Amino acid sequence: MHINSIIEYLDNLLEVNRFNDYCPNGLQVHGRDDVKKLVAGVTASMEFLERAHQQGADTVLVHHGYFWKNEIPTIVGLKKKRIDFLLKHEINLIAYHLPLDAHPIYGNNAQLAKVLGFRQQSSLALQPLVSVGSLAQAMSLKQLSQHIQHKLARQPLVIGQENKMIKKIAWCTGAAQGYFADVWDQDIDAYLSGEISENTVHTANESGVAYISAGHHATERYGPMALAQLLAQEFSLPTEFIDIDNPV
Ligand SMILES: [Zn+2]
Repeated sequence: MHINSIIEYLDNLLEVNRFNDYCPNGLQVHGRDDVKKLVAGVTASMEFLERAHQQGADTVLVHHGYFWKNEIPTIVGLKKKRIDFLLKHEINLIAYHLPLDAHPIYGNNAQLAKVLGFRQQSSLALQPLVSVGSLAQAMSLKQLSQHIQHKLARQPLVIGQENKMIKKIAWCTGAAQGYFADVWDQDIDAYLSGEISENTVHTANESGVAYISAGHHATERYGPMALAQLLAQEFSLPTEFIDIDNPV
């Protein structure tokens, strides 16, 4: 399959033109034209690239690629090593950031909801990346924490009263603790994101809305995974997801 066909398909699916992102979406580094094996992951770290190469990948697809706004644009140091590795082995680097967070089916938020059994009812009017919905069944914050630990294989950091009953929940994968200020007065019982900041704890305590920090990496595994499965079906392309464990 030609790399351009895959990019065209994904650009359309994820509606990349709708987003004003912090990085370029789509093909970030051009390797081979003919794609025979795609490996997906969360972040294009050196370890991920090496593992993907070992698995015979000529194309990698990630949520966190390169060339972020505000980063030093020169290709030196660790960035040189990564890009050098891709070019030397002619590996395509495909990255989708916000469009992959937001997609209603294959996006990180939607896929995380599927894994955790959250039912999405709406998105926040002012911040459409934040999903709002409910649990299939109300449970205590402690039970919810155990449920998340079981499903994501990672213990979340939870701020709130253990016995507080949770039914209405808002969530946004990754480092979306900044949006807590937009949701704490939205008649929800808990807000879940990947990361947490010092002041998040105070907002949780003072608002009475529980905060769940479930891991940036852990919450953003499921979008790239779903996209790889979709490409396997659509293009009869061998794909694989490689999880490089990350404690954050
Ligand atoms: Zn992220």
